[in-house]
Amino acid sequence: MLRVAVVGSGPSGVYTAQSLVQQDRLPGVRVDVLDRLPCPYGLVRYGVAPDHEKIKSLQNNLRTVLEHDRVRFIGGIEIGPDGPPPARLLELYHAVVYCVGAAADRHLGVPGEDLPGSYSATEFVSWYSAHPDAKADGFVRGVESAVVIGVGNVAVDVARMLARGVDELRPTDMPQEALGALAESQVREVHMVGRRGPSQARFTTKELRELGSLPDTEVVVDPAELALDPAYADTAGLPAAVRRNIEVLRGWAERPVLGLPRRIRLRFFLRPVAVAEAAGRVGGVRFERTLPD
Ligand SMILES: Cc1cc2nc3c(=O)[nH]c(=O)nc-3n(C[C@H](O)[C@H](O)[C@H](O)COP(=O)(O)OP(=O)(O)OC[C@H]3O[C@@H](n4cnc5c(N)ncnc54)[C@H](O)[C@@H]3O)c2cc1C
Repeated sequence: MLRVAVVGSGPSGVYTAQSLVQQDRLPGVRVDVLDRLPCPYGLVRYGVAPDHEKIKSLQNNLRTVLEHDRVRFIGGIEIGPDGPPPARLLELYHAVVYCVGAAADRHLGVPGEDLPGSYSATEFVSWYSAHPDAKADGFVRGVESAVVIGVGNVAVDVARMLARGVDELRPTDMPQEALGALAESQVREVHMVGRRGPSQARFTTKELRELGSLPDTEVVVDPAELALDPAYADTAGLPAAVRRNIEVLRGWAERPVLGLPRRIRLRFFLRPVAVAEAAGRVGGVRFERTLPD
């Protein structure tokens, strides 16, 4: 009987297990899905934002796979230097498939990046997702404004969590510690900053648009900054998804500022060059203007 180990129980690992037990050419194959964490589902559990319940409910499909009678989930086992080495798995199984995701952060490489108050998205997301590795830092305590560097969907998640009122988060599975800190949050300004233009931003339209529907929050976009992007004036040659993003941004840019209690400011063509210090922690971020490619 063929025995396979799948390392990692995120969606790639679980769908690998599913595909193996569904193979007609591998009758009776048994699959052990191993994970360093005690609970399965990887970033579906610990990354996808708590207010995106529909995507999070993918965990139900993944659970069905792990409950298959020829699939076993074994949590709390890290393959590598801190646990059994890969060679040991090869002694125990006929094949090993690694589905370990991308856990490491990329660093900006600018001075001040390591100051207290400067975090990677992984740290912040882990905190509001109750990841076992999360630091209980409070993150938003004593903070009135935040800068989110990046203009992809993770940046949108982070900006939304900072601006979304806690009442809307209470019914989610967000941990109490994060809910408590967000309930007391004084964050009024969230700046989301990309080093390139709106036509190169990586967010998807649905996620972007959602920022405009948060209670007591308005999205502010400077039309002059959007116009720095040569594609802004004439979107005809752009892929449909990018065109839709630009139209959402254009709608916000053309609207008068309403003065709502919270603002998300979307900024483009700005590259961080230093994180400035004030009273031993982050006091600001210095940017330089970039040029369109
Ligand atoms: C903040 C955030 C929000 C996201 N939101 C969405 C969204 O809304 N919609 C969407 O479609 N996608 C979203 N994604 C992307 C999605 O979560 C990932 O694409 C997906 O989870 C990747 O699956 P994976 O199985 O490759 O890796 P992961 O989900 O990262 O799973 C890898 C697993 O491997 C385990 N592992 C790692 N190393 C070892 C080891 N040495 N030994 C044992 N186990 C190990 C980890 O503990 C983890 O459980 C989001 C990602 C992030 C970071």
